Order: sequence, then C-alpha cells, then structure tokens
Amino acid sequence: AGSGTTPHIREIFLGRCWAYQEVIKPQHLHSDVKNCELLWDMFVTAFSNKGPCDVTSQEYAPFMSQASQEIARNKAMFWSGTYQIAHQFAENGKRFVTLEDTLIGYIVNSVTWCGDNAGINYMYCPPWYECAEAGTAFWGSASSEFASSARGNITIVLDGSRDGKPAYSKDSYFAKFELPALRLPDVTRVNILLVHDIDKPRREMCDNGSLLSLQDDIAARGLKSTCVDDPDTVIHLMCVDDPESRECQLVHKMAHNS
Ligand code: NAD
Repeated sequence: AGSGTTPHIREIFLGRCWAYQEVIKPQHLHSDVKNCELLWDMFVTAFSNKGPCDVTSQEYAPFMSQASQEIARNKAMFWSGTYQIAHQFAENGKRFVTLEDTLIGYIVNSVTWCGDNAGINYMYCPPWYECAEAGTAFWGSASSEFASSARGNITIVLDGSRDGKPAYSKDSYFAKFELPALRLPDVTRVNILLVHDIDKPRREMCDNGSLLSLQDDIAARGLKSTCVDDPDTVIHLMCVDDPESRECQLVHKMAHNS
C-alpha cells in the first residue's frame, strides 16, 4: 500500500498550480499566469491509459513547453545528492532558483503517478529503475527544460562526502540532462559549491576525484567554471542544525580569543 499514484493527485496538481501563481507569486516569476486546467490535461494525457513503463519524454513535451518559465539571470541552481542543503540555501527562489522553485517542479515535487489500461493506477507504481525510459521520462525532461532556461552564471551544489557515489556521478540527472542542456552563449559560467557533511569524511575536494572530470566536462562544453570547497555561507547554514560540532565552533572561538 502507499506506492501507487498519490491520492487526490488532480486536486494537489490544480491546488499547487493555482497557489504557486496566485498566492505564492514568487518574485523570480516573470511569465503570465498559465491555465492550470490546461496543464493538468496535458500532464494526465501523457501517462494515463497506458502501462506504467510505456511513457517516454515525448509524451511530456507538450506539458513541458506549456509550463516552462524564464529563470532570472544568474539564479539557476542545480543539486545532486544535496537536496536538503541546496534548498535551504536557495531559500524558495529568494537566493537561487531550483527546479522545485519553478512551476513544473513545484506542482509535482514528491508526488507519485503512473497509468494503467483503465486510466490512473492508484494501487501500485513500479520504482523508476524497473522501467527503462519511463523512469526518467518526466524528471529527465523537466531537468533539461530547466537547464535550457538558465542564463548567466549557474550554480551546482555537490556532496563531497557522498558514500557509494562520487560527488559528480555520470548517471545523475545533473550529468545526463542538465549539464548537456545548458545553452551557450546564454550561460557563461558554472559555479561549483562542494559541500562536506559536518563530521563526515571529506572524500573528494575541488582539486581531486570526480570534481576534476566535472571541470573537464564543463570546459569541453566551452564554459568557464569555479569550484569552492565548503563556502562559509553554506557551512553557517549547516551549523544551525549542528552548533556543537567541532567545525561549527570556529567562529565562536575566534570571537572570544580576539
Ligand atoms: P540525486 O542523485 O540527488 O537524485 C535525485 C533523485 O532522483 C533521487 O530521488 C534519486 O533517488 C533519483 N534518481 C537518481 N538516479 C536516478 C535515475 N537514473 N533514474 C531515476 N531516478 C533517479 O541527484 P541528480 O540525479 O543529479 O538529480 C537532481 C537534479 O536533477 C537537480 O538539479 C534537479 O534539478 C533535477 N531533478 C529533480 C527531481 C525532483 O524530484 N525534484 C528528480 C530528478 C531530478
């Protein structure tokens, strides 16, 4: 139980869609108000009345182009393995704009859905790795659409303490759908923020491991990059939840010693 399409998905979709545009009205939003009923029809048409694995990114294309938005210059933020800290730092689009701060990402974030021959399957949806193309059909298109709307400098937050996967993983959405979709010359630079969990090993740094192949891949695309290990701004934010840890004592001690 609980692994089928999210109950009340239509109401959640429509409610989030109208709330985003009429109540939240993010400051970074520049496009005209979009018709949420029309968006729902395009979305549901993409996956309903077919098997859960019989969906490709093609089917979501009309929805993506209808729901797509401009993203304020220098504000686009990508994340890989860093969902929580990236979104805390982005501050709902105030500091940076993530995919989940755009209409497309906001409407369906954390929602599950799939179809069957009778319409929508509320009982069971297979996990993404059991469907070849359908597994990435929606979030792959949403990710490419988002990246192709980015302008100026973009930011990527990566986890240098990640267990089992490199900070820059070649089969991440970021590597497969976002980096390749950045548009030159509209995008000029990629700023990498490499974050390490407090009190966890620093497996990779800006000057080693997968960060080197990321910087190569960026350069091969004709883009400039910067990479910062544990920027103070992000560390201070992480320390809010862990003030007693060794890494978080530094500022405190310095203030007292001077
Ligand atoms: P990540 O490794 O943190 O993965 C993000 C999510 O995708 C996780 O829930 C993970 O379980 C799932 N996932 C990982 N690999 C997958 C695959 N091959 N097929 C299907 N699902 C997979 O980071 P990532 O892979 O780089 O994705 C994050 C980036 O892509 C972000 O920049 C974001 O813009 C976009 N994205 C967002 C969502 C979302 O649910 N909001 C999902 C996918 C991608």
